[in-house]
Amino acid sequence: MSSLRFKVVEEAFKKRPIPAATPTERPSEYYAKYVFNQDKMRKYLPLKTYNKYCAAIDSGTPLDRATADEIAQGMKQWAIEMGVTHCTHWFQPLTEGTAEKHDAFVEHDGKGGMIEEFTGKLLVQQEPDASSFPNGGIRSTFEARGYSAWDPTSPVFIVGDTLMIPTVFISYTGEALDYKAPLKKAIAAVDKAATSVAQLFYPDVKKVTANLGWEQEYFLVDEGLYAARPDLLLTGRTLMGHDSAKNQQMEDHYFGAIPERVTEFMKDLEIQALELGIPCKTRHNEVAPNQFEFAPIYEECNLAVDHNMLLVSLMRKIARKHGFRCLLHEKPFAGVNGSGKHNNWSLTTDTGVILHAPGKTPEENLRFLTFVVSALMAVHRHNGLLKASIMSATNAHRLGGHEAPPAIISTFLGRQLSELLDKVENSTTDELFTLEGKHGIKLDIPQIPELMIDNTDRNRTSPFAFTGNRFEFRAIGSSANCASAMIALNAAAAEALNNFRARVDEHIAAGQNKISAILEVLREDIKTCRPIHFDGNGYSDEWKAEAARRGLDCETSCPIVFDRYLDEATIKMFESTKVMNRNELKARNEIKWETYYKKVQIESRVLGDLCMNHIIPVATKYQSVLVDNVSKILKAFPPEKAAQLSAYNVTLIEKINLHTDFIVNAVEEMVEKRKIVNKLENIRDLAIAYHDEVEPFLNAIRKHIDKLELIVEDQMWTLPKYRELLFIR
Ligand code: ADP
Ligand code: MG
Repeated sequence: MSSLRFKVVEEAFKKRPIPAATPTERPSEYYAKYVFNQDKMRKYLPLKTYNKYCAAIDSGTPLDRATADEIAQGMKQWAIEMGVTHCTHWFQPLTEGTAEKHDAFVEHDGKGGMIEEFTGKLLVQQEPDASSFPNGGIRSTFEARGYSAWDPTSPVFIVGDTLMIPTVFISYTGEALDYKAPLKKAIAAVDKAATSVAQLFYPDVKKVTANLGWEQEYFLVDEGLYAARPDLLLTGRTLMGHDSAKNQQMEDHYFGAIPERVTEFMKDLEIQALELGIPCKTRHNEVAPNQFEFAPIYEECNLAVDHNMLLVSLMRKIARKHGFRCLLHEKPFAGVNGSGKHNNWSLTTDTGVILHAPGKTPEENLRFLTFVVSALMAVHRHNGLLKASIMSATNAHRLGGHEAPPAIISTFLGRQLSELLDKVENSTTDELFTLEGKHGIKLDIPQIPELMIDNTDRNRTSPFAFTGNRFEFRAIGSSANCASAMIALNAAAAEALNNFRARVDEHIAAGQNKISAILEVLREDIKTCRPIHFDGNGYSDEWKAEAARRGLDCETSCPIVFDRYLDEATIKMFESTKVMNRNELKARNEIKWETYYKKVQIESRVLGDLCMNHIIPVATKYQSVLVDNVSKILKAFPPEKAAQLSAYNVTLIEKINLHTDFIVNAVEEMVEKRKIVNKLENIRDLAIAYHDEVEPFLNAIRKHIDKLELIVEDQMWTLPKYRELLFIR
């Protein structure tokens, strides 16, 4: 009898909502309470220092040490008033999480006592041990010097008793060991390139900002049930589990009423996120049972990435207060939807124009088209790389399934924009064009006002969709750092915009007028990037065949998809935009391959253990019960009657044997396979071998376990089942 399973299920069932904290202030009052933002700077810094800070941020120039010292003094005063005793550089190594190393504010005062001390030096630069973070061989362990350096464009904030300082993390020789350093470079590259193109239309533009509005999906699962599933605990996903008889087929969870235990969790999450300056906006149920989404208002890309990392760590922490575990794995449960992180991306000028939004005049629409087509050119040229930027061992389970984006990157534009592109491509004059704006739709329902229908359609199957004033890159994994995709996208967009401007300039230099030069380059580009444009069903098999014909990247093997980072076109793009060099790209790929094979290796080990310690013993125990029953029948009845009465159980005994035999043999074979491939020395070969030779065992074994789950008596089954994990609040 499986007492643990029933105990945790019963306890989970009985849990009552834990009330969220109820702040006495309004959100507008506690918003950014724990952030050293411009308001606090004005209060805690001398005016001269504050102005120097603003000037440095606006011009993108580094702050001098004296100013940093003055800022540190102001920060210290604020932090101490807030009860802070420690500070840490907070950075984003290539592990998808964040890292911190706390130092107390105290120093010897030289008279045998202690004083609170926080200097510009501590603020600006620190030296965490780089050898303990993935570095792809850039830093060998014997000279493990890595530097973290303050990013003044993302404000410091307080968590508990600690002042958190957002930093980049680089090696002694200046190579990036993190996500933030190349992200900042990509943002600078797209700023420069987009500013130069925007100036064709608006001469007074001086700066273009890349925006990111992410939507974070996640699952919650009861903590007790989670603890009773070693696979969830150790790998973040379930490696087995038969479909629950009811899952998402009734479509009753999406936007459904949020369960109370979850509502209280969400309230706490929102309050704490707001206090940390994360501009929360939406919360709702997602498609799968126990799946939810959180989305803030979009922000400058670098800040938005930091806020996503911060939110994810808040989610994990607050989930535990409410007796949940927050699952950020892309595919924690087979058979129901996985989780992603939609990245809404756009560019805006310092004059307030969203460059990816249509305008009111024909000239503005030419600007709109220019930026949309440049984005399409970037996605077309680097579709393989963009896929590599979102690919991981965990996201691979989601891509290509019949739910989330397919493993082929294409763009959805909608009817109106598609028609417009056709019109321009086929036009022969310099005549400009207008766009239908939003149009009203009359509803014959009393009291319901006229609705405004967006001039874009919706297509949920597209990995990269135009949605009215931005592009929505939907293929990012829920556990990923958004920066990976944003580095590739912003850098590729910078390359495309540079290229666009250079060709327009050539035409102008040859005597063409500006409008006609822009239109000519646009016509060329619309033709070139046609293969990336696909408005149909991205999940269909026809699309796979069609995409291959169009020359799009259709590779699905995760370790091979990573190769796209080392294509000459990729290296050239990253080097020409000064985002990353060949060495950094090589080192980062080593980390990707290493992470990939280790994740599959851990899953394979966990599954092997579970088979031998849980599944086989439980199945054989149930089999003995059946054998007992058969032998009793044989004793009690004449042979013919006995055969008839025991027939069903005999079949079950045989079935169980079939499955347990398969499992035992496959686990043995899988272990042998691991021993062989582990000898491979090249990390890419190792990752490919794990993908091709080890990973297939996982699903094959799982199928037989899931069959056994249906056969074995419910009481005996030790691991919480899908119906319990997914429906109990
Ligand atoms: P969905 O219908 O896909 O859930 P929402 O309207 O909720 O979309 O918006 C999703 C995200 O897109 C939000 O973070 C929102 O702030 C962001 N967003 C809206 N406009 C832009 C824009 N121009 N650039 C970037 N992000 C944007
Ligand atoms: Mg969305």
